[in-house]
Amino acid sequence: MDVAPYWRNFVGGAWLDGGAGRLTVEGPATGAPLAEQALADAADVDRAVAAARRCHESGALGGLRPCDRGRMVRQMGDWLRGHADEIAPVLTLESGKPLWEARIEIEGAARYFEYYGGQAETLEGRSIPLGAGYLDFTVHEPYGVSAQIIPWNYPLEMTARSLSAALAAGNACVVKTPELDPLTGAYFAKAAAAAGLPEGAVNILCGLGLEAGAALAAHPGVDQIVFTGSVETGVNIAKAAAENVVPCVLELGGKSAAIVFPDADLDAVMDSVRWGIFFNAGQVCSAMSRAIVHGAIHDEFVERAAALAQSLSVGPGIERPEFGANMGAMISEKQRDRAEGLCARAGADGARAVAGGRKLNRPGWFLEPSVFDGVDPASELGQTEVFGPVLSVMKFSTDDEAVAIANGTQYGLVGGVFTADMDRAMRTAQRLQAGQVFVNEWYAGGVETPFGGYGKSGYGREKGREALYNYVQTKNVAIRLGG
Ligand code: NAD
Repeated sequence: MDVAPYWRNFVGGAWLDGGAGRLTVEGPATGAPLAEQALADAADVDRAVAAARRCHESGALGGLRPCDRGRMVRQMGDWLRGHADEIAPVLTLESGKPLWEARIEIEGAARYFEYYGGQAETLEGRSIPLGAGYLDFTVHEPYGVSAQIIPWNYPLEMTARSLSAALAAGNACVVKTPELDPLTGAYFAKAAAAAGLPEGAVNILCGLGLEAGAALAAHPGVDQIVFTGSVETGVNIAKAAAENVVPCVLELGGKSAAIVFPDADLDAVMDSVRWGIFFNAGQVCSAMSRAIVHGAIHDEFVERAAALAQSLSVGPGIERPEFGANMGAMISEKQRDRAEGLCARAGADGARAVAGGRKLNRPGWFLEPSVFDGVDPASELGQTEVFGPVLSVMKFSTDDEAVAIANGTQYGLVGGVFTADMDRAMRTAQRLQAGQVFVNEWYAGGVETPFGGYGKSGYGREKGREALYNYVQTKNVAIRLGG
């Protein structure tokens, strides 16, 4: 499969080179150069924000009838779905994920446009009774220019998540794609043009975080920011947003835990382990990175989780077109070596590798699917987000102990409870400090269900109805009636 050798940024309806030159994108499965991407500098960011501002002020997007705007947003999703055969191999080659996972990601991205396109005309205000002589109502108006900074783990889905809702609400958008896998960002520009969105409504550019990313976050022409990425960068984004007094949504990391009670259906639990920590090679903010397992079933759980990890064939994503027991590369040498380092040091803290824990002896950024038993909840591996295919297993005996371990990190993105006892599941769900709780199936839910963090996992919600309100501000109109 040949990937186009050079990919430009899309600003104000035109394909542009970058002021900061070009970036070489490497293929994670080989470590070899894959293509070049135009690299934006601060002046390119200025151009993109100006194009979005012009689009907003012209009313070409925000002034459309919501049903017409929503239709265009849905058409972007249709376009992505219709071009899945073209997009999937590029996504696989730049991100390392298996081809079947790339297809799932494209479908997920398309779903966001379908869902939020359908919601465009539902942003209704309300009428507030003020007594005789007054009529009062609220309207929701777009902020104007929405800046969106995207991480590399799901470059399509993470972009689709914010772009679709922001456009549906009538905002012009500037998207800063991730440096490690920016190529597929170009397909949003193509989809927007094909759907007939006005010039400047969708601007897609890649640049370095510290240069283009920081310039975008601090830009005085931006009215609202969405950031998905690490806690460290999120703090910088929040500071930049505060300087300009604009709202931001932060979707940050996690160290999410599944609590497995003795009456859990272990087949279902293993299915959740497979998806929860080995899908996308564990590079998922809401991954099941910890399993807190009752002593009565701990040994069986560990044995089965280790066998599951060992059953996965690990190799180049492009050779893995069909859903199956397989896993791709991690995104970069740096991320892979960081994850391996966490595994290598875990033994000194008393943990035991029952599967994996090492990099593969072949080109590309591969880590073995890994399971560690006896992980001390307070240890480095027990507390640190690995962002890789590494499951930490911890044992518990009382419900209080399980909940305390689950809640005992700085994060609070998601949590899981596995039990046949719904009362116990509900009691535990109430006590988990997390923005989303899965009962008996990790990742249960979809674009319809609100998602976001407690604690240092961030604030604001993406997905679901809740996310639409990130992209609008409320105006109240109070009328004194004459006569
Ligand atoms: P990162 O914070 O390094 O980078 C994310 C994005 O921010 C990239 O586009 C990068 O270029 C940009 N960036 C970096 N420094 C910047 C700065 N100073 N100013 C503005 N932009 C800057 O994170 P990453 O390594 O790409 O992603 C991994 C992290 O993201 C993990 O911690 C993971 O949990 C988190 N994540 C969270 C979610 C979620 O929805 N909660 C989803 C995916 C990833």
